[in-house]
This record gives sequence, C-alpha cells and structure tokens, in this order.
Amino acid sequence: MTERRLENRIAVVTGASRGIGYAAAIALAREGAHVIAIARTVGGLEDLDDEIRKAGSTATLVPVDLTDYAAIDRLGASIHERWGKLDILIGNAGIGGAMTPAGHLREKDWNQTIGVNLTANWRLIRSLDPLLRLSDAGRAVFVTSGLAHHTLPYLAAYSASKAGLEALVRSWAAELGQTPIKVNLLSPGQVNTQMLKKLYPGRDLSDKATPSDIAPAVVDLVLPDQQHSGLIYSVAAGGWLETGPPRPIA
Ligand code: NAP
Repeated sequence: MTERRLENRIAVVTGASRGIGYAAAIALAREGAHVIAIARTVGGLEDLDDEIRKAGSTATLVPVDLTDYAAIDRLGASIHERWGKLDILIGNAGIGGAMTPAGHLREKDWNQTIGVNLTANWRLIRSLDPLLRLSDAGRAVFVTSGLAHHTLPYLAAYSASKAGLEALVRSWAAELGQTPIKVNLLSPGQVNTQMLKKLYPGRDLSDKATPSDIAPAVVDLVLPDQQHSGLIYSVAAGGWLETGPPRPIA
C-alpha cells in the first residue's frame, strides 16, 4: 500500500453532506485524515461516514447549521478538548441564494447568503485559528467562485459573499506570515452539484466537472509540503490566479 500523506491529521470539512465537500472529505480520508464532517443533512453525513470507513479512515459527524455561530465556537472547544490541535480546515459550505435583482433582494435572503458564505467562515477562522497554530503544518482552504470577479445579473449577494470571502482569507493569510500555517482559496469552476442544478434548472450538466474531479486539488492544497499562502488556485486553469501574494504592513 502506498504511503498515506495525511495520516494522523485532523481535518474539518464544512458542507460535507454532498457535492464538493463530500468528495473532498473522502479524498482526505483516503490519505489517512480523520474527518470532522459538518453540514445540516444527517443522511448525507451518514452516507459519508460509510464511505470514509470503506476508505480505511474515520469520521466525526457534526450536524449543525453554520449560521448557528455559537455552535462554531463550541466546535473549537470540543476539538481542543479531544485532539488538542487542528491540522486542516476546509471551508467549503456555501449556498447560491436567491436569484433576484440586487434592488429586490429580501433582507432575509441577503443575510442567509452572507451568513453561510462569509460570516460562518469568519467564525470558523475565529474559533479554529488557535487550534491550527497548535499543528506543525496547519492548512486551510476556502472554496470561492469565479463569480467573485466575473459577476452575473441576479446573483449579487452570492458574488459579494465570495468577494468578501477572498478578502477575508487573504487578510488572514497575511497575518499568518510568521507561522507555519498556509491558507488559500480554491476556485472550482462549474461543477455538477445541487447548487449548479438550482442555477440552471433543467439544463444538461453532464459535460461539467464532477465533485470527484475537484477533490485532488483540495488535497494538494492541504499537504504539509504546500508552501503557497494567500492565493487563489483555479481548478479550471490548473494553476494559481494572478492575485499576487498578500503584502505585509509597510
Ligand atoms: P452543494 O452540493 O449544494 O453543497 C453545499 C454544501 O453546503 C452542502 O453540504 C450543504 O449541506 C452545505 N451547507 C449549505 N448551507 C449550510 C448551512 N447553513 N449549514 C451547514 N452546511 C450548509 O454545492 P457545491 O457545489 O458542492 O458547493 C460547495 C462550494 O463550492 C460552495 O461554497 C460553492 O459556492 C462553491 N462553488 C460551487 C460551484 C459549482 O459549480 N458547483 C462553482 C463555484 C463555487 P446541508 O444542506 O446538508 O446543510
């Protein structure tokens, strides 16, 4: 058997009940990581648990709504108590939200999209940063979207949430410069998941990437030998986007 590159590593994966997060969680488990799997849908998490066992690893299932921010704080405390550190954070959970002209967006829809795609990731950073610092090679990846830059009509909250996420993660990366922690963003391109089906109802998506196509890039970004930080990796382009590294304070 080939050496598993994430043996004994503890990984949090959000949005692990289906889609990209589900496939990424299995790929991390195949490399030996113990996966702390977060989402609301218990059935999806239980299916994942079965797949992770088949892959020869283990999972801890955490069925929570990520807009329950106090639960994210409790997650940090529980991980500290049980494992004393965190090696990997995959901030993948996201929603497309309502497709509506910006001026017609209901406050509840705006708040939900920003809440899941942006605020929950900030709360994860706030809760888990101290635990990543206790790892010898803490790694974090957040899933962004080309729509942070190439906007479409009727998806203003989604685009704003992903642009905000990129600014948040790149700022955090700049702050971590003196630590071994590396944090990056991953832009998956169009992937055949429930989210894309909602965006294009009835359209044939069989020519799109599958979640399993994206998972190897997630693994590469969290390997202990990954030295890039504060950058955006585009799966479609097969490389880093031209953003430049985060700058230190002048
Ligand atoms: P998906 O199949 O709809 O999966 C979304 C995941 O997020 C599910 O596991 C869902 O779990 C979880 N989630 C949503 N709201 C949540 C909440 N309030 N609390 C906890 N978990 C929540 O979509 P996907 O395409 O895999 O999306 C994954 C990421 O990729 C997202 O950040 C998305 O923006 C990004 N992305 C996707 C595409 C694409 O073409 N598919 C393109 C660019 C970027 P529950 O519903 O069980 O809670």
